Amino acid sequence: MATRLAALPSVDRLLNTQTLTLARQTHGQERVTAVVRAHLAALRVAAARDPDARLPGLDDLASAIDATLASSSKPSLRKVFNLTGTVLHTNFGRALLPDVAIAALAAVASDPCNLEFDLVSGNRGERDEHVEATICALTGAEAALVVNNNAAAVFLMLNTLALRRDVVVSRGELVEIGGQFRIPDIMTRAGAKLREVGTTNRTHARDYADAIGARTAMVLKVHASNYEIRGFVSSVAVEEVAHIARERDVLLGVDLGSGTLVDMRRWGLPYEPTVQATIAAGADVVTFSGDKLLGGPQCGIVAGRRDLVERMRRNPLKRALRVDKLIFAALEQVLRLYLDTERLPETLPTLRMLVRTPEEIGRVAQRVADELARRLPAEYAVEVVECSSQIGSGALPVDVLPSKGVQVRSVRARRERHREIKRLHDALRRLPTPVIGRIDNGAVVLDCRCVANADDLAAVLSHLENNL
Ligand SMILES: *Cc1c(COP(=O)(O)O)cnc(C)c1O
Repeated sequence: MATRLAALPSVDRLLNTQTLTLARQTHGQERVTAVVRAHLAALRVAAARDPDARLPGLDDLASAIDATLASSSKPSLRKVFNLTGTVLHTNFGRALLPDVAIAALAAVASDPCNLEFDLVSGNRGERDEHVEATICALTGAEAALVVNNNAAAVFLMLNTLALRRDVVVSRGELVEIGGQFRIPDIMTRAGAKLREVGTTNRTHARDYADAIGARTAMVLKVHASNYEIRGFVSSVAVEEVAHIARERDVLLGVDLGSGTLVDMRRWGLPYEPTVQATIAAGADVVTFSGDKLLGGPQCGIVAGRRDLVERMRRNPLKRALRVDKLIFAALEQVLRLYLDTERLPETLPTLRMLVRTPEEIGRVAQRVADELARRLPAEYAVEVVECSSQIGSGALPVDVLPSKGVQVRSVRARRERHREIKRLHDALRRLPTPVIGRIDNGAVVLDCRCVANADDLAAVLSHLENNL
C-alpha cells in the first residue's frame, strides 16, 4: 500500500509535464498547483479505500488534471438552447435582448457615463430620467421609476403608500407567482395590512366599497397572471374599482405583472391588459416587469401619478432597489422600439419568437430532426410533431401557442425505454451548449419555437454521438 502510493508522481513532476507546463501558462501557477494537489489527494483516498485500485500513469494524470482545469474555467453562467416551449422562462433568464440594447449596454459598461449627471446643466441628475419620458409617452402616466424587478416595484409601492395602513385585495387575486413572491407575504414585509374581500371565485363592487374605511390607504388589483378561475366567477373591472376608490378618497394600485405596452391581439396573441389601458381606466399607480412581455432587461417599472411616484422615489428603500447603468442602457433602447410598433415583431426578439408560425417553426424542426436522426443510434425514433408553446413567466397561462417540435422516442422494450429517454435528455444537457427539452409521455420533446438559428443548434447536436 505505502509503496503503491509512493509510486504516485510528486506535485513538481506533474507540474513539469508538457501538458501542465502549457496549462500553467493558460490558468496560472497557483490554480494548476491547487488542482494537482486535489487530484493527488483524491487518488490517495481512493487507494486507501481500495488497495487494488489502478493508479493512473503520469501522462494520464496530467491529462485528467488538464481536463478538470478546462471544464472549471468555463463560465458558470452560459448560453443554453431553450427547447422547452416556454418562451419567457424564468429559469433561463426570460426575455432576450435586441441587438440595439446589447450595443447600448456594452457601450456604457466599460466607460463612465452620465447615469446621474445632467449634461446640460452640469448638475447631479436622476437615473430614472433616462427612461421616464419614454415610459410616460407610451403609457400616458405622469411619472415613472425603475427598480430591480416587479416584486420590488410592488414592495416599494406598498411600503411607500400603505405603511401601517390597510390595503384591500380581492381573495381571487391573492396570487403566488413562485420564488417566494406571494401577495400576502410581500404585504406584511412592506408593512401594510392586508384586508381581504370577496371570495376565491367572486368579488363584487360592494365588497370593495364595504371594506374601505378610515384605515384604508389603497385598493390593490393584482393581475391573475399565472392561473385562471373558470366557472361561476365574477371580478370587478379596474375602471369600476377606480371609481369606488376615488369616491372614498383612497388610492388604486394595479400590479399587472407582465404588463405590455401594445395590445398583443394585433399579432394574433391572447389579450393581456396594457399599461396605458390600466392607467386610462383610472389606476393611480401601475407596476409591471421589464423582462416579461415587454421584452427587456430584468427590472420593475412603476408608472402613475407624479406625486405618488415622487414619494416612492424619496423612500430610502428606492436606493436599495435601484438598478445599474447596464439595465438603464438596455431598457432605454427596448422602450424606444415601442415608438414604432409596426416593426416590433422584427425588432423585439421575444415578440419575434411569440409570433412565429408553426410553418416557420416546422422548417427549423425538420432541420433539427434530420440532424438528430443522423447522430442518434437506431434505438431512437425521430419525428417532427405538433406541440404547444407557452408564453411563460406567468403571462397568459391558459393560452397556448401552436408550435412544432422534434419528438424522440425509444424503440426499445418498455422496461428499458424510460432509461434510454432519460439518458438522451441528460446527454442533450451536457452538450457544449446545453440543449434543454422536456420529457413528455415517455419521449423527449424539443419545441423549436425559440431556436433563433437552426444551423447553430444542428452544429451543437453533431456532438451528440460522442456524448450519449
Ligand atoms: C411576475 C409577476 C410578479 C413578479 O415580477 P418579477 O419581475 O418576477 O419580480 C408580480 N406580480 C405579478 C402579477 C406577476 O405576474
